[in-house]
Amino acid sequence: MIRLAGIEKRFGGNTVLKGVDLTVAPGRVTALIGPSGSGKSTLLRCANLLEMPEAGSLELEGLSLRFDPRSRPAPKDVLAVRRATGMVFQNFQLFPHRTALENVTEGLVTVLRWPQDRAKARAMELLAKVGMAAKADSWPATLSGGQQQRVAIARALAGSPKLLLCDEPTSALDPELAAEVVEVLGALAGEGTTMLMATHDLRLASRMAHHVAFLQDGGIVEEGGPDAIFRAPKDPRTARFVRTLS
Ligand code: ATP
Ligand code: MG
Repeated sequence: MIRLAGIEKRFGGNTVLKGVDLTVAPGRVTALIGPSGSGKSTLLRCANLLEMPEAGSLELEGLSLRFDPRSRPAPKDVLAVRRATGMVFQNFQLFPHRTALENVTEGLVTVLRWPQDRAKARAMELLAKVGMAAKADSWPATLSGGQQQRVAIARALAGSPKLLLCDEPTSALDPELAAEVVEVLGALAGEGTTMLMATHDLRLASRMAHHVAFLQDGGIVEEGGPDAIFRAPKDPRTARFVRTLS
């Protein structure tokens, strides 16, 4: 579970998030939709503290942090938030000089100090789960985008995060390859993985999301179940945006 409340984020004079409240219930998938520049990626990056909000609070797995520009959270709390979250990026961001397997073991070995054997066993289990066991020794550059993204999902799951953050996980992929990734994410959702996912992919959102939040200009305009948001939005801004999705 993650609860974000009153999240504000500025870049210089530009206030990008203007007091965002968003909760993802345990075992549920929330899709974050909204126009380009509305603040979706920034909100995801605030959820794992890749960006530090100026105001608001975050609750995640028993941790409770308040943000204030004059006092940053303690490094141990930042670390705890990072460990409780995994992130999947639009452009995969695999380490190019590591094999698929090494991409998954890297964090376990260097951050969590797991012994190689144990990390390797865990990584093979995750690669099998995303259908990539046969490519464990492949270099990222030799894999399709869909395959790279599946390795990236395995990597994000390596430390057993409580929350999986996905930033447009299918938008760099052709429809056929996106379908592979939707399949894998759908299976994770079916197992009760808690996810917060920014997406423009209506198929992905309507297939997986239990909850949809529409963000515009740094604020949540409307949120609700996928049917409510996609079929019967109440706010005209939501209606206008939903019509642009395909
Ligand atoms: P897209 O759909 O295009 O991915 P988004 O909803 O993810 O858009 P963000 O990337 O969160 O939007 O950007 C929101 C706003 O914050 C934009 O105006 C962007 O220019 C600005 N922004 C994001 N990151 C930074 C940064 N590191 N420094 C300065 N401005 C930033
Ligand atoms: Mg973005």
